[in-house]
Amino acid sequence: EVKSADIVVIGAGGAGMSAAIQAAQDGATNVVILEKMPITGGNTVRATGGLNASQTPYQKRDGIEDSNDLFYEDTMKGGKNLNDPELVRTLVENSAAAVDWVNDIGGDLSVVGQFGGASVKRIHRPSDTSAVGPMLVKTLNAKLDELGIPVLLETKATKIIADADGKIIGVEAEDEDGSFIINTKAVILATGGFGSNPDMVVKYAPQLSGFITTNHIGATGDGIEMALELGAGLTDIEQIQTHPTVNPDTATMYTEGVRGNGAILVNNDGNRFVNELETRDVVSAAILEQPNEESWLVFDTAVRESLSAIEKYINEGIIVEANTIEELAQKTGINKENLVATMNKYATMQSAGEDSNFGRKSMEVPLTKAPYFAGLAKPAIHHTMGGVKINTQTQVLKEDGSAIPGLFAAGEVVGGVHGGNRLGGNAVADIVVFGRISGDNANEYVLANG
Ligand code: ADP
Repeated sequence: EVKSADIVVIGAGGAGMSAAIQAAQDGATNVVILEKMPITGGNTVRATGGLNASQTPYQKRDGIEDSNDLFYEDTMKGGKNLNDPELVRTLVENSAAAVDWVNDIGGDLSVVGQFGGASVKRIHRPSDTSAVGPMLVKTLNAKLDELGIPVLLETKATKIIADADGKIIGVEAEDEDGSFIINTKAVILATGGFGSNPDMVVKYAPQLSGFITTNHIGATGDGIEMALELGAGLTDIEQIQTHPTVNPDTATMYTEGVRGNGAILVNNDGNRFVNELETRDVVSAAILEQPNEESWLVFDTAVRESLSAIEKYINEGIIVEANTIEELAQKTGINKENLVATMNKYATMQSAGEDSNFGRKSMEVPLTKAPYFAGLAKPAIHHTMGGVKINTQTQVLKEDGSAIPGLFAAGEVVGGVHGGNRLGGNAVADIVVFGRISGDNANEYVLANG
């Protein structure tokens, strides 16, 4: 049983694992990670997009002209300017180094793609068909192993202990043998968000009552509660992002790439109702205005063949398949006459290159290649953008702006980076950039106060 450590990292998701590795790379020798679940990875392993970064060698290789300023502007605009400008500056300025770092420790982020809200191609992804989350978690696990950093699984942190002056001195945790205390000099809070804690969601965002979630079951906001007990401030805690296209029966999220590669959204009346490539908040709100607050993601064989993720959805049994549009309508209960008309109109608009109904800019394919497919889609809780207040050194701050000595935080547990709407690709950037910064600063703090 671990009785003491220089740095205790709470949570083995992308942020916590990056933090621990960075601290060790800086010279820290006594770092331990506590993880309440039986496996590492948290919500990070579910990430399907990639890591947004500007001014990278991969963009340069592809002739993509990007700048940290443009990345900053896109992120602020996407976040409705609610973001903390200094945290966004820190994110963009350290983003290229984050890509290098992941690749240096054995990861693969070498393909650059386009994603919603980005002015240029900026999202860095693995070069094979693997999703970014599993690639990143596998890479981080292997590096932790190599560095000999212990990860205590099924060990839940329950309280962060401070002395009379408010300085962090320990963590109370619980494993199958009961409760115990680890004495420490610094704590990095990397517990992720609270998207799987319905009471907490409704407390801060009552309009999301009854929503399903895409989150892993460990995303219960423990870190926010523990930080609040120490007097930490919160930023944008009511800002919760929904993902527009989630299957309501299995909570499977249809990646944005399905729409990106050509799928459309229709309601039960068989009509389109939104530019499918709009931001997550806009598409989510539009779906909730439809009959039964639901929609169908409709696509054809050309879209299916363009995206390996779709095979997974088909294998899960959540996709309806039909040889004709009429049959698709019959099997889904969508209004047949309208669906046929919608598909015909879409094909015409696609060949003319103009969506005269909703102004969708890129219409990849005419959606005319049988068989046809449809998946039921509703918005679900996806990312809790608000959280603990930090500064650019990831020190946790009280409401009055003073730092809690020895307490650092990174990742989804933190608020301010994403403002009122997170861009796809910015969560993975967030966890690697701020995870590393928290590792650096916790290590320096221990050296200065050891
Ligand atoms: P991030 O993307 O910020 O790294 P993740 O959701 O990927 O967030 O990871 C957070 C991790 O923290 C999850 O694996 C989760 O199980 C873990 N965790 C949450 N609360 C606790 C706790 N009280 N004690 C230990 N681990 C925790």
